[in-house]
Amino acid sequence: MRESKQTKDVPLRIGQQMTLTIRSLGINGEGIGYYKKKIVFVDQALPGEVVHAELTEVKEKYAHAKLVKVVQRSPARVQPPCPVYEQCGGCSLQHMDYQAQLVSKQELLIEALRKYAKLEHPPVKPTIGMANPWSYRNKAQFQVGKQQGQLVAGLYRTGTHQLVDLSGCPVQHEQTNQIVEAAKQAVEKLNIPIFDERTRSGVIRTIVARAAFATGETQLTLVTATQEIPRVKELILELRYRLPQLVSIAQNVNSRKTSLVFGETTKQLWGRPSIAEKLGELSFDLSARAFFQLNPEQTAKLYDQVKQAAGLNGTETVFDLYCGTGTIALWLAPSAKEVHGIELIPEAVEDARQNARKNGIANVSFHVGKAEELMPKWAKQGLKADVVVVDPPRTGLAAELIQSLLQVKPQKIVYVSCNPSTLAKDIQRLQQSYALKQVQPLDMFPHTPHVESCSLLVRM
Ligand code: SAH
Repeated sequence: MRESKQTKDVPLRIGQQMTLTIRSLGINGEGIGYYKKKIVFVDQALPGEVVHAELTEVKEKYAHAKLVKVVQRSPARVQPPCPVYEQCGGCSLQHMDYQAQLVSKQELLIEALRKYAKLEHPPVKPTIGMANPWSYRNKAQFQVGKQQGQLVAGLYRTGTHQLVDLSGCPVQHEQTNQIVEAAKQAVEKLNIPIFDERTRSGVIRTIVARAAFATGETQLTLVTATQEIPRVKELILELRYRLPQLVSIAQNVNSRKTSLVFGETTKQLWGRPSIAEKLGELSFDLSARAFFQLNPEQTAKLYDQVKQAAGLNGTETVFDLYCGTGTIALWLAPSAKEVHGIELIPEAVEDARQNARKNGIANVSFHVGKAEELMPKWAKQGLKADVVVVDPPRTGLAAELIQSLLQVKPQKIVYVSCNPSTLAKDIQRLQQSYALKQVQPLDMFPHTPHVESCSLLVRM
């Protein structure tokens, strides 16, 4: 005790080296250790390891460090297969064996529920992973730039404005990688100017390649800063020659200074305006800007979990809150009496209605608005659900929505979450009337620290 009191006052400084034992994994995939009671996040360190680390950032409550040397190695440590794993930072768990990743995602949920929901033994099941946790992303959305005269397409390194080339990115579906490569080659061959952020000149900003896993159809969208693409006819010919499997080539114009990828106008350059995709029994038409879940294989498993948790018998009224383009509602509709979706973004609601029409599903309706405003309003009008599915953004449920759920008291709440902390905090408040029956983690983005889960809460 005496020693820690003495040393506590010695401030840590950037550049300081230390030996740490890593206790757990943080929500960004870093290893967590403690030095003089201060929490230290060490990039690329694994639980159970003893490491030498060097401080890169010191804050009042925590510090960040880079890994200098692994002194005692975790059996879960593997060589990251991706050549740009360090520069990119997108897959910050690639140094961890896949089965260990799945266990650590389950543990993150258990920890969050212990901490915030005060549950000693939260009912968290083992994470549902992928048999092949590679090539799972159906869309590549890569910024384009020039580096030393070389055309590169990829993502900005986490927290920087440095573009990392992602040719052959191993979590992307091969078709999307091929499309990006071919588009780069065609643009380079025809000397079409690349957009330069600093001078705000040039044409091509982003290459978006999408593959429909179920049908094999593919789509290329070039996001440009200008209305016109020079030599566009030759470009189309080049693209079609290099990519005979393409079904759709589109141009989206985004001339604004923004971090949003897409602008308002989309022009069809060649082929169909959308590609056909299927998820389970459902069919979708995906236009250039249409939202679609990025990992279709895991999405289908997630929706099956939602369906299982909801346990419908055909008589229930179901709400799908934060419904996006309505896929959960459509997935459940055949087993329910009716499903009503609420979503903030009008375009997504349009897509949801379109998806319902396309699939001939009539017992669904979709509404533009805030879940926390519409649900209490519906309750006043007498429209109440037996089962409420929520799938909120990382911030979790609005306080007013939790209030409304506690008042209306649907029989079941199925909570799809992408953030264990807000999930656990929301569950803590719902526990006054609900029992947490089950939490099913599901790996939506292998090798990244993302933790997706589906929880079932039943009215007490
Ligand atoms: N359930 C969808 C994805 C939902 S993502 C699917 O499975 O594909 C979360 C969605 O919540 C986003 O579409 C976002 O636009 C929407 N959203 C955010 N805040 C909201 C609010 N207060 N009320 C309703 N929808 C909201």
